[in-house]
Amino acid sequence: MDASEDILRKAMAEKQLALEAQGNAVRMMKTTGATKQEIDAAIEALNGLKLEKASIERQLQAAISGSEGSLNREAFRQAVVNTLERRLFYIPSFKIYRGVAGLYDYGPPGCAVKSNVLAYWRQHFVLEENMLEVDCPCVTPEVVLKASGHVEKFTDLMVKDEKTGTCYRADHLLKDFCNEKLQKDLSITPEKAAELKRVLAVLDDLSAEELGSKIKEYGITAPETKNPLSDPYPFNLMFQTSIGPSGVSPGYMRPETAQGIFVNFKDLYYYNGNKLPFAAAQIGQAFRNEISPRQGLLRVREFTLAEIEHFVDPENKAHPKFSEVANLEFLMFPREEQMSGHSAKRIPLGEAVSRGIVNNETLGYFIGRVYLFLTRLGIDKNRLRFRQHLANEMAHYAADCWDAEIECSYGWIECVGIADRSAYDLHAHSEKSGVPLVAQEKFPEPREVEKLVISPVKKDLGLAFKGNQRMVVEALEAMNEKEALEMKYTLESKGEMEFYVCTLEKEVTIKKNMVTISREIKKEHQRVFTPSVIEPSFGIGRIIFCLFEHSFYMRPSKAGDEHLNVFRFPPLVAPIKCTVFPLVQNQKYEEVSKVISQSLTSAGISHKIDITGTSIGKRYARTDELGVPFAITVDSTSSATIRERDSKDQIRVNVEEAATVVKDVTDGRRTWEDVWSAFPHHSSGSADE
Ligand code: AMP
Repeated sequence: MDASEDILRKAMAEKQLALEAQGNAVRMMKTTGATKQEIDAAIEALNGLKLEKASIERQLQAAISGSEGSLNREAFRQAVVNTLERRLFYIPSFKIYRGVAGLYDYGPPGCAVKSNVLAYWRQHFVLEENMLEVDCPCVTPEVVLKASGHVEKFTDLMVKDEKTGTCYRADHLLKDFCNEKLQKDLSITPEKAAELKRVLAVLDDLSAEELGSKIKEYGITAPETKNPLSDPYPFNLMFQTSIGPSGVSPGYMRPETAQGIFVNFKDLYYYNGNKLPFAAAQIGQAFRNEISPRQGLLRVREFTLAEIEHFVDPENKAHPKFSEVANLEFLMFPREEQMSGHSAKRIPLGEAVSRGIVNNETLGYFIGRVYLFLTRLGIDKNRLRFRQHLANEMAHYAADCWDAEIECSYGWIECVGIADRSAYDLHAHSEKSGVPLVAQEKFPEPREVEKLVISPVKKDLGLAFKGNQRMVVEALEAMNEKEALEMKYTLESKGEMEFYVCTLEKEVTIKKNMVTISREIKKEHQRVFTPSVIEPSFGIGRIIFCLFEHSFYMRPSKAGDEHLNVFRFPPLVAPIKCTVFPLVQNQKYEEVSKVISQSLTSAGISHKIDITGTSIGKRYARTDELGVPFAITVDSTSSATIRERDSKDQIRVNVEEAATVVKDVTDGRRTWEDVWSAFPHHSSGSADE
């Protein structure tokens, strides 16, 4: 707990006790016939204590809410969301039919921001690392998601209002309860506050039983009706469907894009010249039937994911480019710090890897690249932290996981998950499909090793299984050591056994003559292994929402009578890079504006031309609210001014060079400071609204 908050909570508890004692003293004096003078003095002392308590209360409230108190945060969010919806950045889907929770449409500026973010993602990751981009279907057959574990385990814990049946996410109710108590109940003791904070810190780590018992212990009821709640139970988040008209082929809308990459591993490895490491990437829609979507774009039922699967030798997770990010220093929140109630701290990435806080260099490399990606988009680096998963929060097979969390008006939100998933996914699909998803390392010199060798007898298998021979051979070869030894034992003792061939979706009878399984000393020329995968997974909608909040501010109009909204998007993400305005309605200026507009089109700069008679100040204000970084104003036939959105500074350029200057600053070849020092300045009241 924050030191000042702790001290203030203690002071509050002491003051409350003193008040009660003084209250009792006054009552006692009245009943025991004390003099009026004595009683007045005691009442004065009581009032003094009340004033002191009120003052501590105010300080505590300020310490809890910080400078951006929760009320301020909500008002701020309202201002941002109103602007976003009014200017069609995004809007609830199917609005004329009263919408559907958790589904949103992006309007024109929102689409442009999203496509800029995705273009930069491709540049920063796919291009930089020569990743192999793929595009797989959203509809996925059940077998794939059974192999990945989603059919069984892709669940959230849900509780139901026992009378109305309304569903809630169990962890969300507990989180809301703890936050509300901490923020609004100033009378709780420092010990109780510490306990609630601890529950919040380990919330993702709690089992169904632990969540259920906390809900009972705190007396949490259904938020709207106050009815009792059921025990928490798992709800699968996937949307189920069936593929084809017969209804016999179950499928799901994919909950992530990663599985499309894993099932293509064999072909992608071949495409990459049978070399590791390599990464595949995919951008696409993911679908999750969230229990109670809220928080706008942050928790939706259909969203865009951008995912990278970086395949690496499990015995060598060093990264050749790690030194390029090792000196970055940013907020990291290791598991131990969370468990002991501390806050995130700045750690140089090189140190985090060398001290083993981050499991390996490749994972560290991606953490560093994600940091650069988010901050270059415009995420405030002081409101970005990398939080390590707690032990139970992490899947059992994972070696290490970190979430890039961004602080917005809803608190700290996971926007990118970066996980070392070990060899789990490729193993799972190898086993289920019978197709080995493995890599090879060629040895410079052959090595002698004892091996369990599975040799299918293709002639006998061909006679028995005809056209299915290949599938049976592949399934036999894909057996792991334990399965192969079991088969060896059964064939030796019984002569035959039933064997499930996944690709045939049935069992076949394997006889002793069809396969030999033996331990042999072999000379090996290569090592065959299942690669590990390191997966950065980006929720694009969440990143965009946080970017909207981090970019939004208000400034007073020139007359000082209203507040004007501005998005300070960097040119990289701004939905429109530039506007072109004739200063006044005048045919010559309009023609010059059209010439500049054509040059901007040829230079590939998205822009908007506005020849309405509205005052120039109003036109600036309208585009500031869309986050347009530059405005060219034509006020002569030979030259024009260029205004920068945040400083409102203006330079004067020749008409012919206007498009080039804007292109240079939007593409990052020159900064605004560069052009500010290279061109004459223009000052006029019209830069303001
Ligand atoms: P996960 O596979 O659960 O780690 O999710 C990967 C990323 O997807 C997260 O880091 C989030 O940014 C994003 N995400 C997950 N669930 C949702 C959702 N319901 N709405 C929007 N984004 C989501």
